[in-house]
Amino acid sequence: MRRQGSCAGSEPTVIHIDMDAFFAAVEQQAHPELRGKPVIVCGDPDGRGVVSTASYEARAFGVRSAMPVKEAKRLCPHGVFLSSRLSDYAAVSERLLEVYRRYTPVVEPFSIDEAFLDVAGCERLHGDAVAIARNIKEEVRRGFGLTCSVGVAPNKFLAKMASDMQKPDGLTVIRAEDVPRVIWPLPVRKLYGVGEKTASALASMGITTAGALAEAPVEVLVARFGVMGHILHDVANGIDESPVDPGMWERPKSLGREITLAEDSADEEVLTRHLLSLAEQVARRLRKRGLVARTVTLKLRYSDFATLTRSRTLDEFTCYDEDIYRASVELFRTNWTRSRKVRLIGVSASGLAASHDYTCQLALFEAPATHERKRSLVSALDRVRDRFGEGAITRASLIDVAGPARRHGPGRNGDREKERQGG
Ligand SMILES: [Mg+2]
Repeated sequence: MRRQGSCAGSEPTVIHIDMDAFFAAVEQQAHPELRGKPVIVCGDPDGRGVVSTASYEARAFGVRSAMPVKEAKRLCPHGVFLSSRLSDYAAVSERLLEVYRRYTPVVEPFSIDEAFLDVAGCERLHGDAVAIARNIKEEVRRGFGLTCSVGVAPNKFLAKMASDMQKPDGLTVIRAEDVPRVIWPLPVRKLYGVGEKTASALASMGITTAGALAEAPVEVLVARFGVMGHILHDVANGIDESPVDPGMWERPKSLGREITLAEDSADEEVLTRHLLSLAEQVARRLRKRGLVARTVTLKLRYSDFATLTRSRTLDEFTCYDEDIYRASVELFRTNWTRSRKVRLIGVSASGLAASHDYTCQLALFEAPATHERKRSLVSALDRVRDRFGEGAITRASLIDVAGPARRHGPGRNGDREKERQGG
């Protein structure tokens, strides 16, 4: 492999591994009689669900993931339709990760059938990234009877692009200097994370290829897309500084904040203001850790130490202040016994999922316009707080609460807040 030498970060040390037709391939491996046949794994073969994974034999008939099962049956009437056995696939996925971890500790599972590895510093033991990629492919084939498509590049974005270029069973290397030749001719829609909406916004600016995006003035992109403009410009230039993060997967079960009031209170306004502050802190912690949550839990402890916790599951994942606040206030209003004094109040978020670095940001950008507005507002607030500290900005209704509430985590439940109550 050609070495670039001095320039740190430009070495292709990031590997992206994407299992080929994973669910279908695991089924074919477990049931040899299915090998060579069109196998279609779906939620419920007789129901109205969609295809999870089609084997390459089924893809030859035009069957694709996310296609309604009914249509798949029409295209491929002789196909073998199986209902998915997720726990079996997850077990195989775990064993695959063990293989990868023998080469490097820096393994980030990206989905049930994809993972990023950073093998920088592993060369002396295992050879360079390309040699490691070859060995892993071989081990996966011998040990599991499965094939995978692998990308090797200097960063996650390019490695992800590379693994997609020769499927199935491919091994593709993209070096920094390959970007103009390999990435720039692609339509913007082919850039990982760029969806329909972003692509059509770019098209309206006359930008249809990655090359045009790479050459567009970044100010113009920022004027149109906000922070996302920087990200788009970077990825089109093959730049992605997000690290391969093994900790991403070891996410907590929940994130929460609670405070013990300086003085027990039955004042609804005071209590809801605390809820807003707590919701903001929880949402911000989610964003800092690259997480989104589906469930919001309210905790109330009354003066007599009687404690209640109530949860609500949201329609969609969120990392936004408003969503968490709205859910906590609703829980509070339906569950608080009015006139009963509250001693401690807490908000936590659970049902957590990783919102992966730039890809999630782009995905959020693809979401309905309300998300977009929330996102740009929230990231602006986050930037100010990063620079000037947590108390720098509070929402209007927090302003008259004297000073920002001191926070403490679940480990310090007994602490009394020293802050003075407003009103
Ligand atoms: Mg795959």
